[in-house]
Amino acid sequence: MLANMMDQPLLISSLIAHAARYHGQTEIVSRTLDEGIHRYNWAEAEQRSKRLAKALIALGVQPGQRVGTMAWNTYRHLEAYYAIAGMGAVTHTINPRLFPEQIEYIVNHAENQFIFCDTSFADLVAGLLPSFTTVKGIIFMCDRASMPSVVPDALCFEELIAGQDANYTWPEFDERNAAALCYTSGTTGNPKGALYSHRSTLLHTFAAIAPDGLGISASETVLPVVPMFHVNAWGLPYACAMVGAKMVMPGRDLDGASLHELLDGEQVSLTAAVPAVWLGLLNHLRSTGATLEHMKRVVIGGSACPRAMMETFQDQYGVEVIHAWGMTEMSPLGTVNTPKFQFKDLVGKAKVDLQQSAGRPMYGVDMMIVDENDQEMPWDGESVGELMVRGPWVIDAYFNTDPQPAHRIPGWFGTGDVCAIDPDGYIWITDRIKDVIKSGGEWISSIDLENIAVGHPNVAEAAVIGIYHPRWDERPLLVVVKQPGEDVTKDEMLAWFEGKIAKWWTPDDVAFVDDLPHTATGKLSKLQLRERFKDYSLPTSG
Ligand code: ADP
Repeated sequence: MLANMMDQPLLISSLIAHAARYHGQTEIVSRTLDEGIHRYNWAEAEQRSKRLAKALIALGVQPGQRVGTMAWNTYRHLEAYYAIAGMGAVTHTINPRLFPEQIEYIVNHAENQFIFCDTSFADLVAGLLPSFTTVKGIIFMCDRASMPSVVPDALCFEELIAGQDANYTWPEFDERNAAALCYTSGTTGNPKGALYSHRSTLLHTFAAIAPDGLGISASETVLPVVPMFHVNAWGLPYACAMVGAKMVMPGRDLDGASLHELLDGEQVSLTAAVPAVWLGLLNHLRSTGATLEHMKRVVIGGSACPRAMMETFQDQYGVEVIHAWGMTEMSPLGTVNTPKFQFKDLVGKAKVDLQQSAGRPMYGVDMMIVDENDQEMPWDGESVGELMVRGPWVIDAYFNTDPQPAHRIPGWFGTGDVCAIDPDGYIWITDRIKDVIKSGGEWISSIDLENIAVGHPNVAEAAVIGIYHPRWDERPLLVVVKQPGEDVTKDEMLAWFEGKIAKWWTPDDVAFVDDLPHTATGKLSKLQLRERFKDYSLPTSG
């Protein structure tokens, strides 16, 4: 028997409609490329999103068609998000840091009709335009005066908005329709698309704002540093609208000084990014003696948050770290590290010990670990296996990919991450399957070794990769970038591990480099690093 409640679809447009109606005066602040700091509010954001939606309809965009965005986090990108999905088309966020061939591939694979483009990507897009097979036009996200000349017939964002009024009712349709498309960075092979629905996005948003999610309320000021082209800025543009929080959009400048200016000036209470970004901010704070007066919490995920970073934020700056784990295929949130009831009073070292875990599943995410034979492994905190997940915002199939990579276990998505789960349900990620170091049939966690290495005061960044060894198959090589102006020797580095790990985990060698390769989403690129060190011979190889 069906129930008698209103069958109202969960649509992305309802988020901005809510923010405009109930939090209309709450500010959205952006650092823009063309007009400095821009300020307006949720009510104006909805009005302009509606005008933009009408402009897209006038351009002939049909529901279900994909419209690309290649842009920094600004109010115009936010408007594009809501206009495209709101009128029933699909927002395809393009990561401009992908290799040009990958951008060409995803734009054509997604069959983008138009691409919204920040002026800073004008040359990039102009160069690729001849290879785009479905794109009918580029829309530069600026006013007429700032229009780049490299794409002569490009459309102007502000003119499109000026050409329409806001007399528009967001359409209603099936909540299972596609709303947004995001490609994984494709470290191997072509990028693959995760196609989110309105429903999956809304359910993910409810989970994200909850206290044991990212815990976002109307009284918060949120600065998403994580780009809107990196899994929808971890859902923050939706979460902020759902609660009507103040948003601060950092635009292009993500260096420590620029971020600090906004964090401080706008009194940001919550922010989010990958660890690499926070290295820049913490360096800036260290060298200038600046503080974080208003910030209460920082969400760190995308790669493991080193203990040293966590302690610096919490002990020196009074900012609580929320360690989270997720992936493009999970919209992205999977686990968040907040204390369960029995851990609510933890303080000091015991608290930070627990925070090393990437967290526990939020409602809506179910998980298990399995061995090579797909047998479920116990949650004893020791057994390490591949993490499998399922839930209403977890990917079922990649966008337009034939053949689909098979689900190893029907109904479960294999994350490719390796972890242990402790008896309390917290996950302890040790590696990506492809990065695990196999030494004499046993696994060594590169993430654990990296975390310890970056805890050394003279180490800026560190990576550990497996190098061929005639006796053990592979042994760990530690690759280190020193802090500017500081020194550390190989022996000091290796001594640093003593007492912190089982002796046989100690790296066989240390290589000092000027920089480490990163992926398009700011993570260590182990693939490129392994390539750099492919002919490396360990001193222990005999
Ligand atoms: P990509 O950077 O490959 O485009 P994602 O942003 O989807 O894709 O990355 C997801 C991956 O990032 C996860 O599968 C996991 O390996 C890694 N990751 C995310 N959060 C954490 C974390 N807290 N600790 C360790 N690894 C993490």
